[in-house]
Amino acid sequence: MPDILCVQPLWTLPGEYPLKCHIHRRLLTAYPERMNSGSKQASYHPVVRLRLEEREETLSPFAVRSSASQGRLHPEPPSPVRTEFQRDRDRILHTNSFRRLKHKSQVFVAPMGDHYVTRLTHTLEVSQIGRTIARALNLNEDLVEAIALGHDIGHTPFGHIGEAVLDRLLPGGFHHSRHSVRIVERFEKEGRGLNLTREVVEGIRRHSKPQGRFMDREPVANLSLEAQIVRLSDALAYLAHDIGDAIRAGILSNDDLPEGAVEALGERHSQRVNTLVTGVIHASSDATGNIEEAQPWIRMSDDLTQVTTSLRDFMFERVYLPISDSREGRNAAAIVELLLENLSSDVSQVPEWIRNLSDTDEQAAADYLCGMTDNFAIMLAERLRPGISENVFQGRI
Ligand code: MG
Repeated sequence: MPDILCVQPLWTLPGEYPLKCHIHRRLLTAYPERMNSGSKQASYHPVVRLRLEEREETLSPFAVRSSASQGRLHPEPPSPVRTEFQRDRDRILHTNSFRRLKHKSQVFVAPMGDHYVTRLTHTLEVSQIGRTIARALNLNEDLVEAIALGHDIGHTPFGHIGEAVLDRLLPGGFHHSRHSVRIVERFEKEGRGLNLTREVVEGIRRHSKPQGRFMDREPVANLSLEAQIVRLSDALAYLAHDIGDAIRAGILSNDDLPEGAVEALGERHSQRVNTLVTGVIHASSDATGNIEEAQPWIRMSDDLTQVTTSLRDFMFERVYLPISDSREGRNAAAIVELLLENLSSDVSQVPEWIRNLSDTDEQAAADYLCGMTDNFAIMLAERLRPGISENVFQGRI
């Protein structure tokens, strides 16, 4: 029997696909039961998806292929026109949690200026940077995109300020990456969850990085290269755009940046992104599989690692921590604390479907609170305790 088969699809896009397609036999034999399962979706001949999966066969030997996915908690018939990772990307994109990122702070608290980065534009920049790196290294761009779009979906209002309050007050602590997983597994679709593939969930769970040396190899052992790309792209994106926002806000000028940073990375946002992205691509080129006996991981050159690590430390010291300690930052923290306290003591204010999914009243309050945008949190807190925001967010809600 020949390896390449000529198949007659039952479903085609008019004028766009030929009536007959050539598909590798191994792809057809991988899904016999799915193609004959009788469901409406599976009754279409999945020729488009098979072609996409066949295209993935040309990726690096180190890439994660959707056809080899570890699957979903609840098995589902596959899509006829999308790979499993493309489907996950779309599921995340269409959630309410994703839409709410547009009104959640990145670094600057509930910013009034239209050009400040928000959690949504940050997420899109992470996705684009990650896809560029994945494509250059011949890794799975769809998996990178799905993880990137979901990585910050569990962020509280007011970014890390809200996160720190919940971490301090909740019995089990709080971390946004854990909550991102909680959202995709439990809360989206009113309690049914998104039923994502394990690769995407794992990438979301492990995207976060400690302060200090964040580019060591050890923490990313056993993490897919695609998840490693998102983990690093997150830092590259926020370093680049947070410098831009700090300059926009008048907190920093290029002259304030650590010695060697401007020289190494450039003066403009586009130069910084380009230097960092190309640096990762060059240093991680063994991920393409074109080098013998490679054991690749996603990294930068030692020089660039040093510049980036010291720049990140500098940003913590000069931007992130001072913003948390600013009048707006302290006010935001007070709002989150008030809401947690108030909602926990009168949990009837939390929507019933959230209460049904949460184990305790305090957890229900936290779950509701985490989903709020900055604007919603400010408005609700003002209703509960008029004047709490001391007008520092005037004009922003
Ligand atoms: Mg992020």
